[in-house]
Amino acid sequence: MYKRKRELKLSPSALGDFKTCPRCFWFDKIHGIKNPRGIFPSLPGGMDRQLKKYYDDCRENKTLPLELEDKVPGNLYQNFDDIDRFRSPFGRGLCVTIEGITLTGGLDDLLYDEETKLYSIIDYKTRASEPKEGATEQYYQTQGDCYDLMLNSNGMQTTHKAYFAYYFPNGVKHLRNDVVGVYFKCEPVEISTDPDRALKLSQAAIQCLRSGEMPEPSKDCEMCKHIEKRTAMQDMIEHADEVKSDEQVEKPNPKAPDTEDDIRF
Ligand code: SF4
Repeated sequence: MYKRKRELKLSPSALGDFKTCPRCFWFDKIHGIKNPRGIFPSLPGGMDRQLKKYYDDCRENKTLPLELEDKVPGNLYQNFDDIDRFRSPFGRGLCVTIEGITLTGGLDDLLYDEETKLYSIIDYKTRASEPKEGATEQYYQTQGDCYDLMLNSNGMQTTHKAYFAYYFPNGVKHLRNDVVGVYFKCEPVEISTDPDRALKLSQAAIQCLRSGEMPEPSKDCEMCKHIEKRTAMQDMIEHADEVKSDEQVEKPNPKAPDTEDDIRF
């Protein structure tokens, strides 16, 4: 049966993990064993902070970032306090309770259209090159669906669209002394979002955690097969060593001398 001392929370990224592999999600949420993330480069974090500041400056000037003009609906949402709260990923901001469990997450920014009175999510992503077709749906659909659900549950009606603004480098220029400018191109990608899909996914994840059973591993992941093979090999080697040492105890070498009398010089 599901036991955990720390309060269990779901996030869009945890639900993304659940979609990819329920077993890895289960190990993380039930036993606190997370997948190793490797070395995380600091550049994306720095870019994210700069972009947040840049969007806040635009908000203060009541303008959209120029690269988004005519590509997204409405303007940046003007309430600074709400935006600060919504950006917090630790439950201070946007959240919804599903079957007693909180789904929460921190979004980057929000658009609001005065004419339609509808909100849309906007999220900025930095990457090495322009996004490939279909990659946004493949990697960020759950994120978009979850924020749509959280906004709707907090009484904010949405366009059911999410905008992912990709910033990727496309040139470097020396500006002055030791200052070099790296230029980024921006390509916003629109995807349709569905709050019901996020709700169903959350319910399935909760059901998985409450079932008390370890779920099957993902069929597409090579890592589990690799671990299984390695564990089997390790067992075989350890077992072979045990058999060898048992044999040495039980079957002494007949040629070996047993007593001092048997020793000949
Ligand atoms: S298949 Fe195994 S290693 Fe791969 S993601 Fe799932 S539990 Fe993790």
